[in-house]
Amino acid sequence: MHCARSGPPVWFAAVSILLAAVMACRETVSGPSESAGDKSAVASITVTPAALTLALGRTGQLSAQLTSTAGNTLTGRPILWTSSSPATASVSSTGLVSALSLGTAAVTAAVEGKSDSALVNVIPPTPNAFGYSRELFGTPRTLSVGIQSINAATRQVTIGGGDTRMPTIPFTFDWGDGNTTSGFFNALHTYADASRNYVVRVTAHYSGGATDSVDVAVHFLAPQLVHMSYPPEFAVTIPAQLPTLVSRQPGYGPPAGLIAFDDSYFSAVLTRADVAYILSQAAAVEAAILENDVERPDGGFREVVLRDPNAGGAYSIWYTTPVAFGANGSYFQGTPGYSSLFHEMGHNFSLNAPAAFRFGGRIDGSANAIFSEAVAQMFQHAVAYEMVTNAARYGLPDDIALDIANSARASAQIVRASYDAYVGAGKPFSTWNDPATPSDETFGTFMTVARQFMAHAEQVGSYIGPLTRTMKLLRTFNQSMATAYAPQTNSSEASTFRATLMVAALSYGFQQDLRAEFRSLNFPIDDAAYASLYTSVP
Ligand SMILES: [Zn+2]
Repeated sequence: MHCARSGPPVWFAAVSILLAAVMACRETVSGPSESAGDKSAVASITVTPAALTLALGRTGQLSAQLTSTAGNTLTGRPILWTSSSPATASVSSTGLVSALSLGTAAVTAAVEGKSDSALVNVIPPTPNAFGYSRELFGTPRTLSVGIQSINAATRQVTIGGGDTRMPTIPFTFDWGDGNTTSGFFNALHTYADASRNYVVRVTAHYSGGATDSVDVAVHFLAPQLVHMSYPPEFAVTIPAQLPTLVSRQPGYGPPAGLIAFDDSYFSAVLTRADVAYILSQAAAVEAAILENDVERPDGGFREVVLRDPNAGGAYSIWYTTPVAFGANGSYFQGTPGYSSLFHEMGHNFSLNAPAAFRFGGRIDGSANAIFSEAVAQMFQHAVAYEMVTNAARYGLPDDIALDIANSARASAQIVRASYDAYVGAGKPFSTWNDPATPSDETFGTFMTVARQFMAHAEQVGSYIGPLTRTMKLLRTFNQSMATAYAPQTNSSEASTFRATLMVAALSYGFQQDLRAEFRSLNFPIDDAAYASLYTSVP
């Protein structure tokens, strides 16, 4: 739904997100008619709820009811919202409260000399709720932990890791089998029972009593996946033989040196079928984000994962039939690199969308990343969020959900660090990766797009809905947009269009005008192009 032009008036559902939609559309849509007939003075104001408890990073809506001396409800009066501690809980002009740090704040609504307050209590994030608020907003984690080896025969497990704060107090290892030990890395443990999987919690202890912990899964057995159905047209396979890849893009050939992942990459614990299943579920989520609006080269969109022994990481091969992605061997050695794989799949899907006029081939070149890399980052973190949060829906047991969560948290930490570096460097906005320089001048810019997406998604507690809307705007891509994007042109005009496109898409995604926020991050935005893009969504 775009703006309130037709259909039932959204005004009556006075929840914040709809209010924000109406506000964002006020240039083009006349506001709801309010019965401003009653000119009586305000006799009382009541803020509800009177107390609001919010987890850090979340938002909550307060509303104020105005009453006349005759007891009538009054509307249309400008209300001034203020917070006694904006650093703890800020409040918008519509009463939307953002929980920014732990503590309490009184949020007050005032009108015509009357006022009322609500007490807002900001609590730590729900321990079991998955999200990236720690990675995006919290103290960066210095503790890193990884499984070094699992020997099913001896039942011995080695955990490696480190902590850049270099605590002198020994770490605590809770092995998940009732045993807890204390020591430094590497830590060894011999399990009595290797007929199940475990979650190990490693806790670091810092001077002053602070602690931090990381959970890792120990897989002695294949994960207890419940294979739920998924649309076969979006299946991902890891073929044991190299398939023929046929290019759909003139001038683009499949990379040389691709081979298949042979059986040595898989085991009874990590089977080819199980990994393909998890990737297929992720693919179905990505397709749904695009409302299945993708080119279907084989009648469907069946991706294959291939090995590139010469690659430093993974990469998208969006332009072939079948659609493919390449990855070096490390992706299926130990815990699969889920977040990166979801990222490459995000490239594959988004570059083949919209079906009628795919981005791929039309934005390629030095200016591609503000679209392609920002979108791939949004996809990888949204998909991981969805699959971890609703693990049961995808048949994923806790140990697999934890592997996906850890992989995505690590990549979220990179998004945050890149954003911090962008801000720290004075916000050097750029959409042009100069081919004459070794560095990518656009890196901080596209990571900032991804970071702002994730920050807003954390605040509303939702990734898939906002990303689906974001992509809905981006899927209006057509020839005139491609011309304005001007992928081969290094000009401020083209750069402004590219920035405006992404800001309009995120604004549409969150139903909130994000222009001021992005301008403060040095993004150039054209208001006319923004308005035109925003209102172009069918
Ligand atoms: Zn990428």
